[in-house]
Amino acid sequence: MSTSIPIAKPVMGEEELDAVRSVLESGWLTQGPWVRRFESEFASRHNVSHAFAVTSCTTALHLALVALAIGPGDEVIVPAFTWVSTANVVVHCGATPVFVDIEEDTYNLSPEAVQKAVTPRTKAVMAVHLFGRTVDVDGLRSVLPDGVAIVEDAACAAGASLAGRPAGGLGEIGCFSLHPRKSITCGEGGVVTTNDDRLAALIDTYRNHGASISEEVRHRGPKPYELPEFKVFGYNYRLTDIQAAIAFVQLGKLDRFISEREELANLYDARLQEFGWLKAPERPAQHRHALQAYVAMVSHEAPVGRNEILAHLQAQGIGGRPGTHSVVGLEAYRKTYGTDPIDFPVATDVEARSIALPLHNHMAPSDVDRVVDAIRLLA
Ligand SMILES: *Cc1c(COP(=O)(O)O)cnc(C)c1O
Repeated sequence: MSTSIPIAKPVMGEEELDAVRSVLESGWLTQGPWVRRFESEFASRHNVSHAFAVTSCTTALHLALVALAIGPGDEVIVPAFTWVSTANVVVHCGATPVFVDIEEDTYNLSPEAVQKAVTPRTKAVMAVHLFGRTVDVDGLRSVLPDGVAIVEDAACAAGASLAGRPAGGLGEIGCFSLHPRKSITCGEGGVVTTNDDRLAALIDTYRNHGASISEEVRHRGPKPYELPEFKVFGYNYRLTDIQAAIAFVQLGKLDRFISEREELANLYDARLQEFGWLKAPERPAQHRHALQAYVAMVSHEAPVGRNEILAHLQAQGIGGRPGTHSVVGLEAYRKTYGTDPIDFPVATDVEARSIALPLHNHMAPSDVDRVVDAIRLLA
């Protein structure tokens, strides 16, 4: 059998190795000059005034809710079809996740469903740009009362945009992931973005134990022996400079990575037309899709089910995955919040019929053909 095609695989080069070496030799390993450099580049690439590097998108999302002072008695609207941590952080704040169904064509939350779910307790909506397709935030904003914050879960959306406006600045706060399944990576990591100076100051403090100034500022200032003030209960969500150096180099490659994936996605779009039963993801022109994943839908008329396709591809050395899970069907949510997948028919159906095909920056066009040839054996 020829070499396998994994679902995803990060691209790392000599530049990343050189950057790590320089950090290790510098003597400063945790949040320091490389974190600042990375944050400044990330903010300018996403056209926002502030970016803060943290340990993951999950901790970024948690910080976003903490900065918005969300707690017990508050409700946060979450799409039913997303990675579990979008909902978990609401639970960790002591607030209540209120799930809404999604749209099959976008995989994103439905503004109509959001409108019906809003109550006087609603404090925020998790606008998940799933797989790198931005939420129609203007449509979403139009159904929200004043004062309800939009938190972008942009885990999959580094480099994505909506009508030329980059993800990360579309809501009050944006949260990105640097996990290896995402567009750019440093192992684990995340970024919080905002244009709001007040929220920015809170995020900066809460990620560093609640300290009034960072260690770097203190150690390099005139009185390094004076410990900072602690006015709030913070967390240690700091990214290391080791990771930030890798992330900085990766950020420089982001737009090339997306363009390369666009070419592969265009090829998939063209090839999949031969199967009437496998629907390519929608990528309308006004959205720059970051293509974190290429997620197609297996129609009800397909000759085989989604899970059979996954097993068949695996046997051919090709990695496929379900799009993601429907959080309302997970045991923790069913038991504690009484969620029932029947109430979220689109999310439940998409969970069963979506299929992510291999898409990453080690792939050649011939790999797309190999995937399509393998699927053809089932047609
Ligand atoms: C990957 C992902 C997360 C979690 O990101 P981590 O950096 O692994 O914490 C959250 N939300 C969505 C939509 C994701 O795809």
